[in-house]
Amino acid sequence: MRILDILNNGEIGSRVVVKGWVRTKRGNKTVAFIALNDGSTINNIQIVADAEQFDEPLKRISTGACLCVEGELVESLGSGQRVEVQARKIDIYGTSPEDYPLQKKGHTLEFLREIAYLRPRTNTFGAVFRIRHAMAFAIHKYFNDKGFYYWHTPLITASDAEGAGAMFQVTTLDMENPPKADGKIDYSQDFFGRSSNLTVSGQLEGELGALALGQIYTFGPTFRAENSNTPRHLAEFWMIEPEMAFYELEDDMALAEDFLKYLIQYALDNCSDDLEFLEKMYDAELRERLRFVVENKFQVLEYTAAIEILQASGQKFEYPCTWGADLQSEHERYLVEKHFNNPVILTDYPKEIKAFYMKQNADGKTVRAMDVLFPAIGEIIGGSQREENYEKLAKRISEMGINTSDMWWYMETRKFGSAPHSGFGLGFERLLLFVTGMSNIRDVIPFPRYPQNAEF
Ligand code: ATP
Ligand code: MN
Repeated sequence: MRILDILNNGEIGSRVVVKGWVRTKRGNKTVAFIALNDGSTINNIQIVADAEQFDEPLKRISTGACLCVEGELVESLGSGQRVEVQARKIDIYGTSPEDYPLQKKGHTLEFLREIAYLRPRTNTFGAVFRIRHAMAFAIHKYFNDKGFYYWHTPLITASDAEGAGAMFQVTTLDMENPPKADGKIDYSQDFFGRSSNLTVSGQLEGELGALALGQIYTFGPTFRAENSNTPRHLAEFWMIEPEMAFYELEDDMALAEDFLKYLIQYALDNCSDDLEFLEKMYDAELRERLRFVVENKFQVLEYTAAIEILQASGQKFEYPCTWGADLQSEHERYLVEKHFNNPVILTDYPKEIKAFYMKQNADGKTVRAMDVLFPAIGEIIGGSQREENYEKLAKRISEMGINTSDMWWYMETRKFGSAPHSGFGLGFERLLLFVTGMSNIRDVIPFPRYPQNAEF
């Protein structure tokens, strides 16, 4: 029986069996109180045990121990819950000696990161990972209800064209003694007969799906070997990438806004206990901010207009902002948090700072890109309408010096039944940063991967 169900619906007087981990034990000579948690909810169930009857097991029970308790559900007078369990039988599955790192005192998030194998047992990470699950479920529900198909794109790729970030190489060659041809490593002897990498995005293969099934989305792991020790970047993260035939940029933006609002509303409706806890512990304005995003229309403006605002702001930025430069997170956050006080969608970026596949505008300078910028996060979504014209795409690819022999299959979609289409990528952990109010992306994924860390 899950503690969540017992706390909500357990009948007074019924027999229950609960299994979980001890959060605290206290008591006196006659009675002991154990707070037990099984991960189904942020709330513990209180076990009341007769100190004499359970003298022997109680001596061996301490914080972190795992128990199976059989007893009677009784009305609770003092535990802050509706009900508690009057113990009749206690089995100890596993004791937890004093060196258990999660003793009752509060721990810093940095320390908990070092013991990521145990941190899911804390209130904070229990809440975060339940919300993570709820958001994953909501993403599938949203797209399924809208008639999108879940499309699986490969994690191993041989095309180095995305340019979204540095890649991790995948190889079975002997690194100590790789085969050589003309002084260079001979990848024809590698597993795939060529050099290959972990994917930085499923988009290119996503487009192939959209140009057949109409509307697809991907939701899978993504890898970037960027050596950026920021609170918003992971080396392994999850991305959701919808791709839609017959969507123009305006449709793409409308979908992105509707999608984000749906997910945030879903969290408000379904994760209230966990959000309440996080609000109390870390971020007093958490739900206020979530509601604000759901209730207000996103501000849409062109990159060029954003640059003008930034230049006129009189604000001192660490990085300069001139037309043509990529916006840094300080610029994005100024627009969102100071200037508009609202989520912002920026469109029509200079083509030089965006990927080769974005639809080119008639001005010859900008492309039909859109980034969704959020408070506290900066970029949460990056998307665009895709260039569907074969000649324009081919020209851009060669201008950017991209190896066309890797890209022939992508180009062919523009030759055979090309169609206007658009899509975007939402970083799952960036979404979770926003929804949970956590401030470091390493704290919203169970086992974070970042420079110098692949432990657990
Ligand atoms: P940024 O400029 O913030 O590094 P990007 O422009 O490289 O991001 P895109 O290539 O547009 O990112 O990827 C789409 C989305 O994936 C981003 O909007 C962001 O939410 C997420 N994302 C990108 N890189 C990372 C990363 N290293 N860790 C976690 N999420 C990421
Ligand atoms: Mn981007």
